[in-house]
Amino acid sequence: MTVTANGPMPSRSYDVAVVGAGVVGCAIAREPARHPSLRVAIVEAQDDVGQGTSKANTAILHTGFDAVPGSLEARLVREGARRLTAYAAESGIPVEPVGALLVAWDEEQVAALPHLAEQAVRNEYADARLIEPPEL
Ligand SMILES: Cc1cc2nc3c(=O)[nH]c(=O)nc-3n(C[C@H](O)[C@H](O)[C@H](O)COP(=O)(O)OP(=O)(O)OC[C@H]3O[C@@H](n4cnc5c(N)ncnc54)[C@H](O)[C@@H]3O)c2cc1C
Repeated sequence: MTVTANGPMPSRSYDVAVVGAGVVGCAIAREPARHPSLRVAIVEAQDDVGQGTSKANTAILHTGFDAVPGSLEARLVREGARRLTAYAAESGIPVEPVGALLVAWDEEQVAALPHLAEQAVRNEYADARLIEPPEL
């Protein structure tokens, strides 16, 4: 795989070119790069990979607990969490499973929490639970 930065593309031909070396472009390019017969290039405007949005996100490994059950989002986020966890383990990237807190700030939001907990189960996420303010 070749990453080109700023300068002109080398005068070689490629079978696949992906524009943008953020997490999405790198993940996409990784698949064809496994095929020994394919030459794959990532073209990046910055001087290194991961200099865009990917550099500065919150690092939450989303589970899809709150997605609409049965939606494409629910399926892809669940699959993405599974694949990213496996990739991190196989490539030695440390991941601290800190989880996430969804805080209800008023009575209306408190009333919505049980529905979200049920939705998590329907999205095949079993670790969501309701907690009270003292534990929070
Ligand atoms: C504040 C914040 C917090 C977030 N927290 C989380 C989180 O906790 N968990 C989570 O899963 N997601 C989170 N996200 C979302 C996540 O960071 C993005 O969905 C993801 O990084 C997008 O990756 P990307 O590869 O599409 O974009 P980018 O990382 O922006 O990559 C795009 C790349 O393309 C390059 N580029 C663009 N145009 C060209 C061009 N014409 N030629 C060459 N190169 C070009 C750019 O330089 C850049 O490097 C967060 C986002 C934000 C903003």
